[in-house]
Amino acid sequence: MSQKWWQKGLRFQCQGSGNCCLSRGEYGFVYLSKGDKKALAKHLDMDEIDFLKKYCDQSDGIHHLKERAEQDECMFLKENKCSVYSARPTQCRTWPFWPENMNAKSWKKDVKTFCPGVGRGPHVPAHKIEMDLTTQALCDKELGL
Ligand code: SF4
Repeated sequence: MSQKWWQKGLRFQCQGSGNCCLSRGEYGFVYLSKGDKKALAKHLDMDEIDFLKKYCDQSDGIHHLKERAEQDECMFLKENKCSVYSARPTQCRTWPFWPENMNAKSWKKDVKTFCPGVGRGPHVPAHKIEMDLTTQALCDKELGL
């Protein structure tokens, strides 16, 4: 099996910038899997239909979180912190180890520029990166992304 460029792990530690909660270029909407919708509705003690009406929009038939008008930031971002952290969607949990980020060029250029956590803190081991990648790939597949 060929070695991955991140086989020895990658340094990443969240710096609390909130950048990953802003819509920017390819890092656009926070799409929601079935499990994400259920978990968020439960966390907010809401009926799922009411949750979808209040907090979600759809693009090409796929639900995603609404953004605050004009700020392009997630409605759940409060004072630069996630207000639904324990129930945050898959996409938020797996950042920055998304399939589209895991080539050396994107990682060093796009992801590093966008996210100040890249290159900081201890090494995240390859097995944890692999786990996040698999989780995100399954989520993308469910949503047809
Ligand atoms: S749900 Fe939380 S972590 Fe995800 S984009 Fe919104 S504020 Fe950020």
